[in-house]
Amino acid sequence: MKKTSQEESKIHNSRLVLRTIYAQGEISRANVSRLTGLTRTTVSDIVSRFIQQDLVVETGTSPSRGGKPAILLNLADDSRHLLGIDLANSEFRGAVINLRGKVLHRINLPVQERDGEAALSLVFTLIKGLLALTDKPILGIGIGTPGLMDPHAGVVRTAVNLDWRDLPLADLLQEEFNLPTYVANDCQVAALAEFTFNRRQAENNLVVVKVGRGIGAGIILDGKLFYGDNFGAGEIGHMEIVKGGEPCLCGNYGCLETVASSRAIIRRARTLLEKGEPTVLSQLVSSPDEINTDVILKAFEAGDPGVQSIVDEVGQQLGFAIAHLVCALNINRVVIAGSLARFGDRLTRTIQEHVEQGALRALAGETRIEISPLGRDIVILGAASLILSNEVGLV
Ligand SMILES: [Zn+2]
Repeated sequence: MKKTSQEESKIHNSRLVLRTIYAQGEISRANVSRLTGLTRTTVSDIVSRFIQQDLVVETGTSPSRGGKPAILLNLADDSRHLLGIDLANSEFRGAVINLRGKVLHRINLPVQERDGEAALSLVFTLIKGLLALTDKPILGIGIGTPGLMDPHAGVVRTAVNLDWRDLPLADLLQEEFNLPTYVANDCQVAALAEFTFNRRQAENNLVVVKVGRGIGAGIILDGKLFYGDNFGAGEIGHMEIVKGGEPCLCGNYGCLETVASSRAIIRRARTLLEKGEPTVLSQLVSSPDEINTDVILKAFEAGDPGVQSIVDEVGQQLGFAIAHLVCALNINRVVIAGSLARFGDRLTRTIQEHVEQGALRALAGETRIEISPLGRDIVILGAASLILSNEVGLV
């Protein structure tokens, strides 16, 4: 094993102590020592430093069992704030978030066809607005955006909808705001959000499939976000699902996005209405152009059979794609996020059935398909987790 320098082991120990306090909630110094394997003196020294920095507070004492009651420690949830940003398709969403992932303030700015420099300037406006809402020290800025990112260099390789190519986004923001800045793909940070704020006990592997205008997966392997050799791990939206199918934005045909994204269900719902078949949609809109996912969800909840069968087909296609992931990775918990996650149990049931049909039974039988409880905030929270992970080693 490589010998770590004294400095490295000091950072490692500090992070281990902070992570333990974060995970346990209230805990005594003695128990931190027991759980981390560090000596009581080392733990005490590290904790004193955290208390000086206001990162950890003493919250009270544990009930006495005869001996001297132990002083309990906890993280000072609001001692630092984080800025989480989601550069979503129609609006840029930003929030001020505390160390426990609680959203304290938010600003949403409509993108209105902006791209290139104009979109970049909107990001600056959003961050300035958020900074004005808090007077706490800011730990950093985290950004999740659709497209291909180089998270190590903080460079947006390609974000088609924003017309950004090789944009050094992290450096530009760091120069302007003098804060550590992290950038990653939106589906990848969504996985980080689920892993940080909704993790199951002892869970080390996880897949989050984000299904909205685009489709992508974020993969956590052995407790770490897996980026892949060119940072494109989880780009399942462009797996060919239908031979010779519809043209896709990527230039190929029959990709998963052409049959299971929000664009695909909107197109099918419009066809349903245009064909003049009896459907609740005709009571909700006056023309097919007005159909969006909100309208489709209303019809779905009203029990419209045509719309339900559209959602079932989406579940079927997603199920087959996820079966490939299950075979490749053998990960037991697969979480669905994004705007189509609102279709809930019926969607997850269909996905589950088709994962079982499309993957080795022994693997698929252990796989659970769930809906993320983090809703629309998943990317914002994931962007904040990037900061927690990089700045204080909390993830
Ligand atoms: Zn494609």
